[in-house]
Amino acid sequence: LLMGKLWHQCPAAATGTANYRGAVPTSICWFRRDLRLADHPALVAAVEAARADGSDVVPLYVIDPALWRTAGANRLAYLAASLRALDRSVGGRLVVRHGDAVDVVPAVAREVGAREVHVSASHEPYGRRRDRATESALAADGASLRSIGSPYAVSPGRVRKADGEPYQVFTPFRGAWLDHGWRDPAPHPRSVPWATLPSDGVPDAPETGADLPEAGEAAARARWREFLDDGLAGYASGRDLPAHDDTSRLSVHLRWGEIHPRTLLADLAEVGRSAGRGSGAPSSDDVATFRSQLAWRDFHADVLHHHPSATARSLRAVLPDDAWATGTDEEERLAVWAAGRTGYPLVDAGMRQLVATGWMHNRVRMVVASFLVKDLHVRWQRGAEHFMAHLVDGDIAQNQLNWQWVAGTGRDAAPYFRVFNPVTQGLRFDPDGEYVRRWVPELRHLDGTAAHEPWKVGPSLFASDDSYPERVVDHAVERRATLDDLHRGRG
Ligand code: FAD
Repeated sequence: LLMGKLWHQCPAAATGTANYRGAVPTSICWFRRDLRLADHPALVAAVEAARADGSDVVPLYVIDPALWRTAGANRLAYLAASLRALDRSVGGRLVVRHGDAVDVVPAVAREVGAREVHVSASHEPYGRRRDRATESALAADGASLRSIGSPYAVSPGRVRKADGEPYQVFTPFRGAWLDHGWRDPAPHPRSVPWATLPSDGVPDAPETGADLPEAGEAAARARWREFLDDGLAGYASGRDLPAHDDTSRLSVHLRWGEIHPRTLLADLAEVGRSAGRGSGAPSSDDVATFRSQLAWRDFHADVLHHHPSATARSLRAVLPDDAWATGTDEEERLAVWAAGRTGYPLVDAGMRQLVATGWMHNRVRMVVASFLVKDLHVRWQRGAEHFMAHLVDGDIAQNQLNWQWVAGTGRDAAPYFRVFNPVTQGLRFDPDGEYVRRWVPELRHLDGTAAHEPWKVGPSLFASDDSYPERVVDHAVERRATLDDLHRGRG
């Protein structure tokens, strides 16, 4: 690694008002949701620009108080750990600055005389607004914001129908996404001349009681390797069983860009060429199913790109306004659900897993979301908010659009009349009751499927205040109410 120059700082430079004496223009790589060095086209561009100028690259991260304030404790703790890992991989030179990026980024550019700030594009509404404003602020100083790549295999907005319109439905989107294809992973920059600049340092994150995964690019790559070796074979059938650790657990690494989906897709293509050969090897179905999950991730980002209001508003209104719980009623239902005390074991296990680990299995995310919206009649936005407060992989596109899918309000969504039955889902996907017993200690003494229907054991189970709760609602009754509301909504 070439060590960057230690700039001699003018006294005023710390305030961002003056240039570094004698500095040649430096290029900036502004990290956001791309906390890695490998397969990073914007970093490659920053390094090329610096080499052309005989200068250095500033690895910049801006702690935006607007985002820091609103992200849940788990995401902040994870982000802080990931930033520390990134700092180690740039030789301790990560430049962390606090403040509104629209002010901070141009200030750093002025400080080092940078003409170019390189980024992977943002596609969420907040990031797009911020980048437009930052671009204008940089332009006023004669500098530019150069966007290369995105956190997705195919950048949102690219996959379109023959008539140029965006896809509304996942399956044809996936077909066109596969036809479109993606670039090969970008080459790893071998030696980067990192600049040395004062840094505000990575702030301490608030305390979180959750057991979070290891953060950073090395941890992401190790997890992916492990999954390729031991987890991908059988993924197509095992991914729906919450008791088994059969999914990749890559969502958090993808969320922070510690690994790029392009890297995963390139490795999958390699595995796919020998799929099914040899016992224990992943089948072509395993490979295709995993690739499909990455297509869902790109699809949701694409939908949000075309419909930024989907972060807060239903893309389709399916129920009349008076179908929803309001006031104290809504708060009480939400509280029971969030605490994992609905009396429906699979729902409660999921909600407790979320609080304990900042993560929940996908099958269970669907069941708990359906329960909140269709059994407790609480609007999806409230549930999505609770998820965002706890999920370590919480991502506005994936979270809001998955909620809209379950709630039946998305463009491509589960039909509203499909109401997940929390008991039959448990019997089907957790047939031994193992997942439920893991997360609901009050039910540990119940064997097998009995853990999914504790009310069959008799009233003794619900005897005291700290015992397992009785069912908060009757699923059959609430399902009927939901279907009636749906018919009224159709008018
Ligand atoms: P794997 O099964 O190993 O899948 C591999 C990757 O594919 C995941 O890491 C993820 O990037 C992608 N993927 C898988 N399923 C989906 C899906 N349904 N939609 C989009 N991408 C998918 N995922 C998030 O990353 N952030 C969220 O905030 C989020 N909120 C959700 C809320 C609800 C109500 C639901 C039903 C799903 C949500 N998901 C979210 C999608 C999914 O549950 C998680 O991506 C998955 O559980 C992560 O575990 P994994 O990495 O082991 O998944």
